[in-house]
Amino acid sequence: MSTERLAKPKWLMMNANFGSGYRRVRSLLKEHGLHSVCQEASCPNMSECFESGTATFLILGHVCTRGCGFCDILKGKPKIHDLGEPQRLASAVAKLGLKHVVITSVTRDDLDDGGAAIFAATVNKLREYDPNIQIELLVPDFQGAKASVDMILDAAPEIFNHNIETVPRLYKTVRPRMGYKRSLSILKYAKGSGKVKLVKSGIFVGVGEREDEIKQTMQDICDTGVDILTIGQYLSPSELHLPVLKYYPPEDFVKFKQWGNEMGFKHTESGPLVRSSYKASHQSANLIEV
Ligand code: SF4
Repeated sequence: MSTERLAKPKWLMMNANFGSGYRRVRSLLKEHGLHSVCQEASCPNMSECFESGTATFLILGHVCTRGCGFCDILKGKPKIHDLGEPQRLASAVAKLGLKHVVITSVTRDDLDDGGAAIFAATVNKLREYDPNIQIELLVPDFQGAKASVDMILDAAPEIFNHNIETVPRLYKTVRPRMGYKRSLSILKYAKGSGKVKLVKSGIFVGVGEREDEIKQTMQDICDTGVDILTIGQYLSPSELHLPVLKYYPPEDFVKFKQWGNEMGFKHTESGPLVRSSYKASHQSANLIEV
């Protein structure tokens, strides 16, 4: 396989802004002993999101038991089972004054419940601080354990999010320990539960998928009843990660959005730099009935 990597196109060049807002979010995370997926996964939008006073919290530590080829999060054996994290997170969210908070986690296959109880405790703590806060949980597949998914749904976040990430043919290389059908069934189950207001999922492109596969994957997600879909360009975090095989031009993302609208998603957020949590409150604005 050629090791030559594609050059990043100009539409992906960003002007980073490391101003006072950025520094404030960084130090707040540090003071509270918290992690963000923005930092751990080297998100290209970090300076913009931090500067605007928001971040996506990464709970259950910063070491993941899986290690997918696209993801920059550290892989290994996590040591942490941090029961104080929900309290510290709620305190940081209150200081940031967030009205919409996105929380995700590393995958914790080492824990019996996959960490679902900590997710639920975090939701409860956040509601103690602010009963009206909108909570979006981006959860792992819990190895398909229904009891863990139920724990998340019973906590009743406004938005249940679980990413499909890529087309089924590429699961073996991109998400080797995940199952396409399993992830779809989690989304369908969450939607059918009626316990959350919105169900959301996302994919990225650029790892070798064909357009017909993108469309079919979108349709499969739509068929589960998902309300919000995000589509973004994969960026390879390092030479040790999967290479980018295609940079889609912005007009392709306009086309994907159109497909999403035609299929019937309530909202499709599609763009080269779109990430699951990018401007998340905007993605669900007007969709959540208060
Ligand atoms: S897009 Fe999401 S993960 Fe990336 S910096 Fe913004 S909040 Fe963080």
